[in-house]
Amino acid sequence: METILLMAHAEAGEALGKQAREVLAAAVAVAKDCGGTLCVGLVGADVQAAAASVAGCGAARFLAVSGEDFANARYGTDAAAAEALCRAADATLVLVPATSRWNRVIAGVAHRLGGRADTHVTGLAVNEGVPRATRWWYRQRMEGVFSRSTRPWLLALEGGIAAAWEGAAGQAVIEPVAVAGTTTRSRLEGFESPPADQQTIRPDADLLFVTGAGWTKKQPDGEVKTAKAEELIGTFLKKARASLGSTKSLVDLGGEGQAVISFLTHMNQVGQTGSTPRHPKGLATCCHGEEPHTVGWRFIGERRAISLDPNCGWARGKADVLYVADAFAVMEKVNELLA
Ligand SMILES: Cc1cc2nc3c(=O)[nH]c(=O)nc-3n(C[C@H](O)[C@H](O)[C@H](O)COP(=O)(O)OP(=O)(O)OC[C@H]3O[C@@H](n4cnc5c(N)ncnc54)[C@H](O)[C@@H]3O)c2cc1C
Repeated sequence: METILLMAHAEAGEALGKQAREVLAAAVAVAKDCGGTLCVGLVGADVQAAAASVAGCGAARFLAVSGEDFANARYGTDAAAAEALCRAADATLVLVPATSRWNRVIAGVAHRLGGRADTHVTGLAVNEGVPRATRWWYRQRMEGVFSRSTRPWLLALEGGIAAAWEGAAGQAVIEPVAVAGTTTRSRLEGFESPPADQQTIRPDADLLFVTGAGWTKKQPDGEVKTAKAEELIGTFLKKARASLGSTKSLVDLGGEGQAVISFLTHMNQVGQTGSTPRHPKGLATCCHGEEPHTVGWRFIGERRAISLDPNCGWARGKADVLYVADAFAVMEKVNELLA
């Protein structure tokens, strides 16, 4: 019988976060479908509030590694905490949210436990009593369903693949788990992050706004209007709180020393050699809709595009709605309406 352990990081005084509750919902379903035992393992400075917020999830045990040493992301302490929780629960199937913090340690933890780890899991179901995971291969072109006989089997589940667990809060009886011999050579000095309006990658945004090389091309009136493009895009992002994506062509232009949108980097690139973000809606502007780009749109719910070219890739079935229009004019009007 499987012992399913959900592991999550907890913020002191706060309910368990949304992505962790999504994985909890998957863990609850798997435990039910394979007749296994569910355990919750939390890591953080103080996990009391997080445990209380999911007290009604039906977990047989709430285990916790807590204390100031475990408040911040650090490979040594995160891996040691995870290893201790897995051993204390005697877990066979371990589920974590695919945050950068968990993705960093999950392979190392599996190695210490003599188990196996899989990341970027996009689905989990029980078939004939066996838990099976779904993920994509070959740059998101092929989807596969697989299981493993090795235990423990650690899985990092992508965000947005299950509805977050909602249920009764209450009193959770927490079993503290001791971590032996962690050394903390690195110390957190503080956080440095760009101002909110310069942070253009927003995974939680409702809209992905994608820019293409067309913004920097000579326009029908013979002019190149990169500065205007930057102003229109920047204003729209601030007003709509959208996440900014780009085609490869546009971010590559910057590397060639050409004038481009200043706040774009390769981190914004969407596609086969870029990222595959998840947003309910996407709007492509001045972008041709080539296959290596649109393959990165796989998980975007509703796709719209603005292009001057009625024969572009978007028009050939890749967008739900294509506006054959000048994106400069459209975005000017949209910004006016948003004001
Ligand atoms: C191995 C490989 C991997 C690749 N990986 C990726 C990837 O990960 N991501 C990616 O994006 N690409 C990738 N590419 C490149 C991809 O094939 C395309 O070359 C690229 O996506 C094209 O970018 P674009 O649409 O911005 O530019 P263009 O093809 O130059 O298209 C610009 C578009 O803007 C339109 N336009 C111009 N002015 C306006 C205006 N005023 N209003 C509206 N529309 C306007 C034009 O009509 C045109 O359709 C890859 C290619 C290869 C070979």
